[in-house]
Amino acid sequence: MTILDDLVAGFRLLRGLPSFVRQPIRLEEARQLVRRRLETREIDFLAFVRRAIYERADSPYQALLRGAGCEYGDLERLVTGEGVEAALETLLRNGVYLTVDEFKGRRPVVRGATTFHVEPTRLWNRPLGGHVESQTGGSRGSHTPVAIELPSIRDWAVNTRFEFAARGDGPWAPARWTVPGGEAVAGILRFYIGSGVPLARWFSPIDPSSPQLHPRYRWSARILRWGSQVGGVPVPWPEHVPLEDPHPIVRWLAEALRAGSTPFLVAYVSSAVRLARTALAAGIDLSGTHVLGTGEPLTASRRDTVRRAGIKIAASYASMEVGPIGSGCLAPMAPDDVHVFHDLQALVQPPGPADADAGPGRPLFVSTLRPSAPLGLLNVSLGDQAVLTRRRCGCLLGEVGWRTHLHGIRSFEKLTAGGMSFLDADIIRVLEDVLPSRFGGTPTDYQLVEDEEEDGGARLRLLVHPAIEPVDPDAVAGVFLEAIGSGSGAERVMGLAWRSAGLLRVERQPPLTTGSGKILHLHVNRRP
Ligand SMILES: [Zn+2]
Repeated sequence: MTILDDLVAGFRLLRGLPSFVRQPIRLEEARQLVRRRLETREIDFLAFVRRAIYERADSPYQALLRGAGCEYGDLERLVTGEGVEAALETLLRNGVYLTVDEFKGRRPVVRGATTFHVEPTRLWNRPLGGHVESQTGGSRGSHTPVAIELPSIRDWAVNTRFEFAARGDGPWAPARWTVPGGEAVAGILRFYIGSGVPLARWFSPIDPSSPQLHPRYRWSARILRWGSQVGGVPVPWPEHVPLEDPHPIVRWLAEALRAGSTPFLVAYVSSAVRLARTALAAGIDLSGTHVLGTGEPLTASRRDTVRRAGIKIAASYASMEVGPIGSGCLAPMAPDDVHVFHDLQALVQPPGPADADAGPGRPLFVSTLRPSAPLGLLNVSLGDQAVLTRRRCGCLLGEVGWRTHLHGIRSFEKLTAGGMSFLDADIIRVLEDVLPSRFGGTPTDYQLVEDEEEDGGARLRLLVHPAIEPVDPDAVAGVFLEAIGSGSGAERVMGLAWRSAGLLRVERQPPLTTGSGKILHLHVNRRP
């Protein structure tokens, strides 16, 4: 993404913000909108397929549908006869899907005699020109720019309205502990439009004025502040609260509770664990605080630690490509039980048993239903798997009509450690290429180990095989973080966060093997 793209997106955002922030969504309005979306689901899906695929010569899905012998009329009959999901499952069985590698353009699509590469920009639902530019992670310098329009954020905020309503009446004091950037801007606006309550505080785990941070991050926060100020609902400037010392957030939460507010904090799951540990150590009770845990699996041990501090934590499942996918059930049957927003997307899974090594879930294939979705997806894997169920839980999110649940959501592609997500391919590149070429040894001489601590916290170690010539641990850590954080994108932010949190310790020790004898790039020591 060029500086010019950034500027154009920034200008468009600035121009659109004032009127945007003046129109939060009311509960009754949200109720009507979701009801209508659920009623017109099949019509909306067919409209998307016709407009974004059959009528668009450069759509990569056209070749897949042709290969399956599926004309528009066939699909229409399938959808009206059996429903959206059944139709998508039929397509999936007939080769109409994209794996995550195909979707990101890392591998060619091969179906029978047809071979082609997916150009990510051809999946954009609209021609260029978003209000918020963000990008998905990519390996070897390939990033998928995602242009998010304010109407997309408004569409998502309709669902957020219920995320607040289901948790009570407030009075809410919303806050975030996230780095500035496109994702944060979209999230802040979504939660404001969906609650009508301005963001009270914005904490950033990275110093927003750090010269190491790409100017894009600072500018996104500035534009958000200026535009929202003109609209009369100023978004606060991000305050630096490093991951290793969440005291300022703990103090603010306690004050907000004392003042009679209900804090609603959005943060990475592992950040929430750190926050809870800090509160517990300081003897501060945060009962009444709500946290929406993002970006990482919400496991039982993590949830339990957070709960010990009095915090109610629910999972949020979202992706940069499609926005929010689901939100935590209020009567969960698993720690990360979420209601699927199936008015926004349709999710299907391939038949067959789950891969026991990878966890209880099966791969998820996502299709977008709303015309406002940044990318048009038809059976696309985002690299995640989960257990998909339908049940009546009795919570308000179910009453809205969202009866599909997901739990056991795990990425089978991204590696998540220390609150940050990395692509497997990036970790492999650094462990197998960068470090051996600099310090010697072979690819299996380096390993990243995440140790799950008793209370669900995480500690990272970079193991260096003792057979390698003596090395300076700081130099190895420096090269690792530098290589992971190369470029100006999200990985750089992650590298900085790891460095500032002192999360990475280098140890001379042979890499660990799994029970089945595998040496994984990221070895996770789970507690029994
Ligand atoms: Zn529920």
